[in-house]
Amino acid sequence: MAHEPLPAGTLYVVATPIGNLADLSARAKEVLAAADLVACEDTRTTRPLLAAHGINAKTVALHEHNERAACAKLVEALSAGKSVALVSDAGTPAVSDPGALVVEAAHRAGIRVVPVPGANAAVAAYSASGYLADRFLFVGFLPASASSRRKSIAALDADCPVVLYEAPHRVLETVEDLAAAFGPERELVIARELTKKFEEVARLSLGAAREWIVANPHRQQGEFVLVLGPRAAPEAKEDGEAERILRILLEEVSVSEAARIAARLTGASKNALYARALELAAGPGIKLAKPR
Ligand code: SAM
Repeated sequence: MAHEPLPAGTLYVVATPIGNLADLSARAKEVLAAADLVACEDTRTTRPLLAAHGINAKTVALHEHNERAACAKLVEALSAGKSVALVSDAGTPAVSDPGALVVEAAHRAGIRVVPVPGANAAVAAYSASGYLADRFLFVGFLPASASSRRKSIAALDADCPVVLYEAPHRVLETVEDLAAAFGPERELVIARELTKKFEEVARLSLGAAREWIVANPHRQQGEFVLVLGPRAAPEAKEDGEAERILRILLEEVSVSEAARIAARLTGASKNALYARALELAAGPGIKLAKPR
């Protein structure tokens, strides 16, 4: 099959599926088919993916053990006008995966870098977590040793959701450590085997998470993302006060502005106030501000 040639000397950072092969985007396929070189974390993983899509590309290895040497060669090829597609074994390169080094080198060499976005386990899990938040903290993998892991966990008491990658043989211990650090009431989303046959997404309290995992022997197998819920926002000085302020503001400004200002004035959670503002706006008794 003939492909439109890619612009010369461009580095494409191409996301590949995290399980379901159909998640390779049409644009990713085009770029992989047309690139002069495909730099892969493991050619044994990427070649079958390319073959499944009928792509016969020239591959080179770029993994954590040869990253520096491979990076120099790739920059040389890019500078000579070749187009290179960078992929990792699964998901988005350079996200808890090799790739950042060659991307950085490309920027320094004045080479154009083009992302071809697609699957990413952290974002997939976060999107299915349902926390009402306007930001999240991506931590990636915690340290493997128990003592370093516990130290890292102690620093994760955030007011926004925290997204972690975890290996199957450590998931139980990590959940126990999270429960010990943040208490049984704190919420956790366990996203397992995303986009694959045995996918599970469970939102539960840290108190219940251990039981959920041990209830089924398969739940210590496969791939996991953990999304820790945010710490509870300090209660408004007086709930009645937040409600009174919200009602007044709803008559003057939009729902989101009302929640934002009420949160600043009372210290209550903006998300909780936004949810309440939506309820008030949908009910009788408030003459809502006209949209500007
Ligand atoms: N670059 C990848 C991305 O964009 O998500 C992440 C690579 S990292 C080496 C691999 C980790 O990502 C796994 O150990 C697991 O924590 C998470 N992960 C990858 N695929 C997953 C899936 N299908 N379901 C759940 N977690 C997954």
